[in-house]
Amino acid sequence: MNVRDSEHMIAELNKKEPYELTQNLSEADLIIINTCSVREKPVSKLFSEIGVFRKHKKDGAKIGVTGCTASHLGRDIIKRAPVVDFVLGARNVSKLPNVIDKKHAVEIDLDYDDSTYSFGEYRTNPLKAMVNISMGCDKSCTYCIVPATRGEEVSIPTDLIINEIEKAVNSGAKEVMLLGQNVNNYGKYFSSDQEKCNFTQLLRKVSQIDGLERIRFTSPHPLHMDDEFLEEFAYNPKICKQIHIPLQSGSSKILKEMKRGYTKEWFLNRCAKVRELCPEATISTDIIVGFPNESDEDFEDTMDVLEQVRFEQLFSFKYSPRPLTQAATYENQIPNDVASARLTRLQKRHTQIVDEIMNSQMGKIHKVYFDELKSGGKVSGRSDDGKLFFVKGSEELLGQILPVRVTKVSRGALDGEVV
Ligand code: SF4
Repeated sequence: MNVRDSEHMIAELNKKEPYELTQNLSEADLIIINTCSVREKPVSKLFSEIGVFRKHKKDGAKIGVTGCTASHLGRDIIKRAPVVDFVLGARNVSKLPNVIDKKHAVEIDLDYDDSTYSFGEYRTNPLKAMVNISMGCDKSCTYCIVPATRGEEVSIPTDLIINEIEKAVNSGAKEVMLLGQNVNNYGKYFSSDQEKCNFTQLLRKVSQIDGLERIRFTSPHPLHMDDEFLEEFAYNPKICKQIHIPLQSGSSKILKEMKRGYTKEWFLNRCAKVRELCPEATISTDIIVGFPNESDEDFEDTMDVLEQVRFEQLFSFKYSPRPLTQAATYENQIPNDVASARLTRLQKRHTQIVDEIMNSQMGKIHKVYFDELKSGGKVSGRSDDGKLFFVKGSEELLGQILPVRVTKVSRGALDGEVV
C-alpha cells in the first residue's frame, strides 16, 4: 500500500510541476520519507533517517514525512525535527501539492470523500498495476495501529476502480493487484450512493476487462472468506491462484484476545476449502509470536496450523506493542527471549517446508508473466501461483505470458527456460 501511495504522490507532484526521480540524495530538491508504523522498528528509524537527510541534502531542499507515522505523530515530528518542512498523513496524499510550499504544514485528518481519490497517473512498472479498492479498516485487532492511522474503512466507487484498471491496461498492464486493508470486505461502506457491489462481484466485473489477463489482491481477511468468494477465486481463470490468508495466531484463545473474529478451526476450514476447490493454489500468511499471554500451548497451536497448511510464504514477527492499541495495555507481555525462541523455531520449520515445496518444482512448467529486466541478461516474472522466476532473455520477453520449465530451484526463486 505504501508503494502505491508513493506512486500517487509522484502523480500528484507531476500535476503541479514535473519532478524527476533521483537516486542521488544531494541532487534532490524534495525528499519524501513515506513511513510505516505497523511495527516499532521503522518508527524509530525515521528520526535517524531525517538526520542523515539533513546532513547530506542540498541547500534549500525540502523534507516531507508522509504515511502512517505521519498520521500517528503529526506535529510532534516537526517539534522533534524542525528540519522537516511538512507532515502528510496516509489518508491525505491528494493534498500533497497544497503542503509542499507551506513551511511546517501538517495535514493528517482522516476524512474521506470521493474527490480525495482522484490521482494523476504514475506507475513504476506499467506492466502491472496496483489499484486501491478501499481505504482504512473497520476492524479493531488489539495489536494494530492501522485503524488509527488510515482511518475508517471506505470502499472506492466501482466505476472509478474499473476506469483506473482500464487506463492501466491501455498503457500496457496485463496484471492488476487490487489493494485494501481488508480487501474482501469491499462494498460494505461507500461514501456516496452507488449500486451494491461486494468483493466477489467486483472480481467478476474486473475480470471482464478486455486485455487484462491476471488479477491479484491483498490482503483478504479470513473472516470474510465465504464459499462464494472462494469459488470465484478457484474458478475464475483470470484470478491468480495465490492467496494470502493472515493467520496471526493458531490459538483460538489468542485470536480472541487479538479480536480477530475467527477461530483456529475456522481458519483451517477455510484453508481446506481453498485446497479442495483449487489444489494448485499457494497460500501465504502472517504470524505474530509472543502476543501477550501466549502460552507454550498457544504457540504449539500456531505450529500445528503451520504443519497442516504448509504455507508457501510466511511473514512472521515478534509482537511489538504499538501506541493507541489495546494490547499495549495488556498485562503479561511475553519476555523477549521467549518470543525470540518461538520466532526462530517457527521460521526454521517454515524454511524446511519451503525447501520441500521448492524442490518439488524441478522440471515443472508454469505460465510466467515477464515484467522486469534484470542484470546479467535475465528477465524476471511471476507464475500464476506467485513464484518468482528468472530466465535468460531480453526486453522482447517483457509483457508476455509464456510457459517456463523449472531448471534450478532455490528457496526464494526459480530459474527456468521458456518452452
Ligand atoms: S484487519 Fe486488523 S490487522 Fe488488518 S489492518 Fe485492520 S485492524 Fe489491522
